[in-house]
Amino acid sequence: MSERAGLQPTRAIAVVVAIAGGLVAASLLGLARVPELSTALIPTPAWVVVAIAALFALVERFAFVVQFRREAIGYTMSELPIALSMLYLGVREAMLATVVATIVVAVATWRVVWFKLLFNSALLMFEMTVAFLIFRGLMGDEVEFGSRFIVSLTVALMSVTLIETLFVSVAVSCFEGNFGARFQQEVLTNGPMVVVSSIGATILASFSEQWPQFTALGLVPVAAIWMVLRSNGTNSQRLKDFEALHRLSNTVSRSLHREEIAGAVIGEVQDILRSDRAAIVQIDRRDGSLRALAAVGDEFRDLPTSIEDARWRPFLEGSTAVLLEPMVLASLGISLGVKDNVILAPVHDGEQTIGFLLVAERSGPQSSYDDSDVLRAAAIANRLSSALRNAELHEQIEEEAWRDRLTGLPNRNAFERAVVESQAACSLGDVLGVVVLGIDRFREVNETLGHQVGDAILIEMGRRLADEVGEGAVLARVTGDEFGVLIAPCELDALIASARRLVEVMKRPLVVDGIEIIVDVGAGVATCALCGLSAPDLLRQADVAMNWAKDHHTAVEVYRGEIDLNTPGRLALLSDLRGALERRHLDVWFQPKIDLVSNVVVGAEALVRWEHPTLGMVPPNQFVPLAETTGLVTELTDVVLGKSMAAVRLLNDVGFRLDVSVNLSTIDLLHEDLVERVQRYLAAHEVPSDQLTLEITETALLEDGQRALSTAEDLRALGVHLSIDDFGTGFSSLSYLRTLPASEIKVDRSFVLNLMRDERDEVIVRSTIDLGHNLGLKVTAEGVEDSATLERLSHLGCDLAQGFHIAKPMPLTHFVAWLTTSGHQVARSGIQGAWKPSTSPLDA
Ligand code: C2E
Ligand code: CA
Ligand code: CA
Repeated sequence: MSERAGLQPTRAIAVVVAIAGGLVAASLLGLARVPELSTALIPTPAWVVVAIAALFALVERFAFVVQFRREAIGYTMSELPIALSMLYLGVREAMLATVVATIVVAVATWRVVWFKLLFNSALLMFEMTVAFLIFRGLMGDEVEFGSRFIVSLTVALMSVTLIETLFVSVAVSCFEGNFGARFQQEVLTNGPMVVVSSIGATILASFSEQWPQFTALGLVPVAAIWMVLRSNGTNSQRLKDFEALHRLSNTVSRSLHREEIAGAVIGEVQDILRSDRAAIVQIDRRDGSLRALAAVGDEFRDLPTSIEDARWRPFLEGSTAVLLEPMVLASLGISLGVKDNVILAPVHDGEQTIGFLLVAERSGPQSSYDDSDVLRAAAIANRLSSALRNAELHEQIEEEAWRDRLTGLPNRNAFERAVVESQAACSLGDVLGVVVLGIDRFREVNETLGHQVGDAILIEMGRRLADEVGEGAVLARVTGDEFGVLIAPCELDALIASARRLVEVMKRPLVVDGIEIIVDVGAGVATCALCGLSAPDLLRQADVAMNWAKDHHTAVEVYRGEIDLNTPGRLALLSDLRGALERRHLDVWFQPKIDLVSNVVVGAEALVRWEHPTLGMVPPNQFVPLAETTGLVTELTDVVLGKSMAAVRLLNDVGFRLDVSVNLSTIDLLHEDLVERVQRYLAAHEVPSDQLTLEITETALLEDGQRALSTAEDLRALGVHLSIDDFGTGFSSLSYLRTLPASEIKVDRSFVLNLMRDERDEVIVRSTIDLGHNLGLKVTAEGVEDSATLERLSHLGCDLAQGFHIAKPMPLTHFVAWLTTSGHQVARSGIQGAWKPSTSPLDA
């Protein structure tokens, strides 16, 4: 049992009632043993009984309580009526007067607790008996004013107060325990007051004994002293309240978490308001719903369910704390299950009620709350409101740090945190997947349609994605035009499938301000197991894959080392590449192209090769993009052009007449001097311009259509052929296809590879061939790996083919050897009729 705890309530009541019985019995015994006590010392008319009873009621009513923390000390001037009773009344009338007055005051102030009333009445009877016995014993039967009178009266009064303190302490400690400390505390704090009030009472009694008719006048100085004491007590109470509130402010201002604040406040409510049952309830600003932040004691039944609760509304919306008497609550149909009155203090933030404090079941000698408690509760609610406001601001700031304002989704920080958290939750073998979805050329959307439209698109995309991603996934806006989805654990196939689905969802048309908008979307997928890949690294990988998907218009890409330009080895590789370019250490290999009708070798594609001194053969897919992003690609193209033209020269010299195709990168087409450079290489090796084909991808046209188009026209004017490479993988823009002066399209190898297995690929290849022919273009299929495919292509009317089935790319010397040994016929210079590109528009 804690120090504070007393007996169980029912047992405590039983003990208190037993003590009361004992006190009544003792009083009656005293009365029986000393019958003289029943006659008054100074005989008076009957109304004096009433007057003394009235005085008694008056001092009871104006009692005041000073409390500090859980200690409350009540002060009354009951010595005054007791002193007068000892002079003018017999003990029985005195008992009657005090008991009646006590009951009347209790009823008038709503404080009827039967056992307390019983105890107080019994104690008063006992006190009266003791007072009479002591006074008469010391004074004798003759009332004679003098030092003996004064001493007897003072001693009697002080003894009575001491007895009262003793029994009250016993009774209270039955409920709350801690008798020793309580009694000591009461004696110490009461001591000076007892002396003052006993002396005051003695003065009054002496005055009255000398001049009975002026007794009322004697009350004046005593009342004056009382008022001074009372206001003093009130002041000291204010000071104590102030201290308590100050302490409360300190505690709550240190915390920025609602529950913590509410917990600290409820602790102080227990102490300052001596409450055994209290609750702090928060009202949600948005929907008005309620949530208990902290509570002590038994739960309240029947609390308001929302701010709209009609029974509570007037109090909740009121601006100040109110005292709700049991009858008021009952009349409103509220049954909190409390014994006495309660204080309801709304918590405001200046405009709105954001919560309330409900305080009930005052412990200690005074069982109900009064106006001064209401003021205290209001002050506490005030502190609570500013603390909660701070907490709310703090929460908002914290939340802002994790949230994207525009879409309301988590932001990059939150996403990375989620990655870290799910990494921590991963078990062995689990795979964590991230999909990054980016809107293609979003900057252009913003610039051409305005930021408002851009914002609307982002909001809509966020909404669509939120609808689409499953429960377990985390969706965030990770940068301006990119969304991230975290799925853990996951399987790669399922992850790619969901990435595709999300891309589809985003690509559905949307209408903003009456304009229909279709965005292109790229998705990058990256995964990691329990491995040490950090959240930013994982996101970066998904980002790399996404950019690749965007650049190559493949919708979804999975991160692979080859497409990553940012690996730590990249810088080293870059400087090696620079060196290789300077020394022209790059090689060009050739892969033959055959005419499907005549089976004649009519050309070759020049493919760059780099044999790194330590890494060996580096695939072009790794270093070409690296060159593209670092401005080295111009030199790379120069090397390839130079070596290819030299090769054509050589082949022409030995009698072959082959077209050579050179790949251009996107950036090349945007360089104004490209035409001039091409012309220079052709001239340097005396190669006819129509023997050179430049392969370009559609991306170049998308980047800066006009510029690319005018360069293309200049090249065509020069006599060089243009070929559209990787056809079908990009942003197939038929309008460009129409305007671009190309002579060939190359069906991407991804369609050709599965031509025999995938019906859809066959459809694509077939329509590409038809389309090309309709536009007067030759169609080349690349990636032919077997004879069946070759036959099929021939059957479909494809013009030219290239692939491992015919020959792999090879160095020039091998290529020359292959031309003579492969068994294929080869187009020859000067030998008429062997092969004539009759259907080619190049000859037109
Ligand atoms: P691309 O222009 O589509 O080149 C064709 C690629 O397909 C070559 O890969 C070639 O080796 C490969 N290939 C040919 N036949 C088959 C086949 O039957 N099956 C399969 N699976 N693949 C086949 P490579 O040489 O690795 O080049 C890859 C890419 O690198 C090229 O794709 C091109 O985009 C780029 N690239 C290569 N050389 C150059 C260059 O000199 N300049 C520029 N700018 N890019 C180049
Ligand atoms: Ca190519
Ligand atoms: Ca290609």
